Amino acid sequence: MQDSLLNRLRLAAGSELFAAGEAGTAAFLIESGCLEVYLAQPAGEIVLARRGSGEIVGEMALLDNRPRSASARAVEDTVLVVISQEQIAHRIEETDPILRMCLSVILDRFRSTVAMLERQDPPEPPERNARSETPHDFNDALRTLAVEQQIKAGLGRAEFELFYQPIVALGSGRLAGFEALMRWNHPERGLVMPGDFIPIAERSGLISDLTTFALNETGRVLPELMTSALANPRGLAGPLFMSVNISGYDLSRAYFASLVTELLERTGIDPSCLKLEVTESLLMKDPERAATMLRTFRNVGMGVAIDDFGTGHSSLGYLSSLPFTTLKIDRAFVRPMLVDQTSRKVVELILRLAQELKVPVVAEGVESDAEARALTDMGCEFGQGYLFGRPAPFEATLGLIAGWQTTARRRLSA
Ligand code: C2E
Ligand code: CA
Ligand code: CA
Repeated sequence: MQDSLLNRLRLAAGSELFAAGEAGTAAFLIESGCLEVYLAQPAGEIVLARRGSGEIVGEMALLDNRPRSASARAVEDTVLVVISQEQIAHRIEETDPILRMCLSVILDRFRSTVAMLERQDPPEPPERNARSETPHDFNDALRTLAVEQQIKAGLGRAEFELFYQPIVALGSGRLAGFEALMRWNHPERGLVMPGDFIPIAERSGLISDLTTFALNETGRVLPELMTSALANPRGLAGPLFMSVNISGYDLSRAYFASLVTELLERTGIDPSCLKLEVTESLLMKDPERAATMLRTFRNVGMGVAIDDFGTGHSSLGYLSSLPFTTLKIDRAFVRPMLVDQTSRKVVELILRLAQELKVPVVAEGVESDAEARALTDMGCEFGQGYLFGRPAPFEATLGLIAGWQTTARRRLSA
C-alpha cells in the first residue's frame, strides 16, 4: 500500500543521476544497487564516495536550493526512492533554528571542501567576519539561544508568574474554575506572553522547569483561592478547579507523574480540583505514552482537558480512547461562529461528540454576550473569554472570586 505511494527511479548501470552545477531539488534513497559520487575534472575524476542500498545521495538539496556540488551515477543497475524538497520543506521549517543553523554550517563546510578538491588547491581564506548566506537562520538561532539563557536566569530570579482566567458555567453565570496562564516579567522586555517563550522552552526541554513552576505555584495558590470561594457560595458553581497547561514533552518524561502525585500529597488538594490541559496536537506526538500517563492521572481522580480541540488532525477513534474529562473548543471556531456557518457547524459537531462521550465542553475566546448566548443554546456547559474576565494576577483573582455574582456576565458586557 505504502509502496505504491513511493516515487521510484530506476537507473541502468553507468547512467548519470545528477551532475555538478545542476539545481538540486531532491535527494535519493538507494533501495538496491550502487552509486558513485564524483567530481569531473580535466585531469580526471575524483570519486568522493560510493553509496549502496539503505544510503542516501543528493541530500544537500533537501536543505537548500543551491547547485549540486558533485555528480552521481549508477555503478550498477540501481533503484532509488525520490525524496522531493517539497516533501520535506515544512519539516525543515519546523526544526529548531539551532539545529538548522548547524546543518547549514555542515553543508557549507562540505561544499568548501569539495570546492577545494575541485581546484586542487587550498581554499581562499574567507573574508574576516564574513558570514554564511543564512542570516535568517543565524539570527533565529541566536535569538533562541539567548531566550533559553534568559529563561534559565529568569527561573532563578523568580520572573515567572501565573495569571488566572475565569471559566464560567454558561447556564447560571456562576464561576466554575480558572485556567492558569504563564507570564514572564522580563527585566527589559516587560510582560512577555507565553507565545514568545513556551515554544522555545518546549524545544530545549526547559519546559519541564516551567511546568514544575506552574504546578508548584498552583499548589501554593489554589488552597487560598478555594478559601476565598467558600465565602461566596452563591457565586460559585461548585468546588473551584484550576486548569494547568502542560506540554507533550512533560507527558513523555518519567519525572512528571511523581511531580504531580507529590504535589497532591503535599498540598492536600482534592485531585478533582486539579485539571491538566494538553493540546490535541501535542498528544499526537507520542499517543500511546501520553495516554498511559494521562490514565494514571485519571485514576487518581484528576481532570484531563483536551485543549485547542478541533485544530489538530487526530482521528475521533483515537481521541475517544483517551482518558479525558473535558474538551476545550478553540477560539478559532468560537470567534467567527456567529458569522461563519462552517465554524458554527464545527462547534455544533464538537458539542454533539462531547455529549456522546458524556464530557463537558469549555468554549474558549468568548468575547460577547451574543456568543455566550449562542453557546448556551447549543448546549455548551462552560465558557472562558474576555467577556467573563481576562487573565489576571493572584491578588486580583482573589478579589474577583469574592465579588463574583451570577449576573457578572451581563454587567461586564453592559
Ligand atoms: P491556551 O491554553 O489556548 O490559552 C488560552 C489563550 O487564549 C490565552 O492566551 C488567553 O489569554 C487567550 N484568551 C482567553 N480568552 C480570550 C478571548 O476572549 N479573546 C482572545 N483574543 N484571547 C483570549 P495566552 O495567555 O497568551 O496563552 C497562549 C498559550 O500559551 C496558551 O494557549 C497555552 O497553549 C500556552 N501556555 C500558557 N501558559 C502555559 C503554561 O503554563 N504551560 C504551557 N505548557 N503552556 C502555556
Ligand atoms: Ca489551555
Ligand atoms: Ca486553548
